[in-house]
Amino acid sequence: MESPPPKLDPTPAVDTRYLLGKFNPASHSDFVSVGKPYSDKAGMLLRKETFQAFETMWKAAAKAGVVLKIISATRTFDQQKAIWEGKWTRFEKEAPLPKDRALKILEYSSMPGSSRHHWGTDIDLNDLNNPTFEKGGKYEKVYDWLRLHAREYGFAQPYTAGRSAGYHEEKWHWSYTPLSKPFLEAYKKNLHESDITGFKGAETASEIGIVQHYVLGINAECQQLSTQHHKTSN
Ligand SMILES: [Zn+2]
Repeated sequence: MESPPPKLDPTPAVDTRYLLGKFNPASHSDFVSVGKPYSDKAGMLLRKETFQAFETMWKAAAKAGVVLKIISATRTFDQQKAIWEGKWTRFEKEAPLPKDRALKILEYSSMPGSSRHHWGTDIDLNDLNNPTFEKGGKYEKVYDWLRLHAREYGFAQPYTAGRSAGYHEEKWHWSYTPLSKPFLEAYKKNLHESDITGFKGAETASEIGIVQHYVLGINAECQQLSTQHHKTSN
């Protein structure tokens, strides 16, 4: 069953500082706290629209015996910087060259300023481990349900298997596309590799092509359809 995701009118305006996660979601009027039963962790924040859509999806999943738990929601630039720099230090011996080290971290973690978690539109669900969502895994039913129904509520998986660039597959990461698609378009238009600065290893951003390959290296379902303004010839 496919129905169009909920329409937003109008799309909220966001500036480049917002897209880079350089704002405080806790004091932003468009953000709400998540809380129980949607998350067992304190301090999870999402944009209102994302949370409302998630709440509707959560209830539908619960009826089908599937329990969705948010384990990560909005993260600021500074929070992402702490994650990144922790790994930067940890991987120093394993990957002494800056570019190699950045690529190693980028298998699963974003550079500060380039994370979809900055936007209040993206969530990690249940567990940060692909096999638990696969056949015989603890959350097999969760993933099967999401794959069939998440799009009815506006959610899609940006990091699917089989893409040619970007992060590894993440079966736990879901994005509220009625908001994240226009935010991605704004990012594409206004931000470049040179804007990704202010943390250890940031000098590798341009060489790696962080915007081109990682921010934009996502599943087509999370991108604005480029064909929507064109007529096809057949
Ligand atoms: Zn995530």
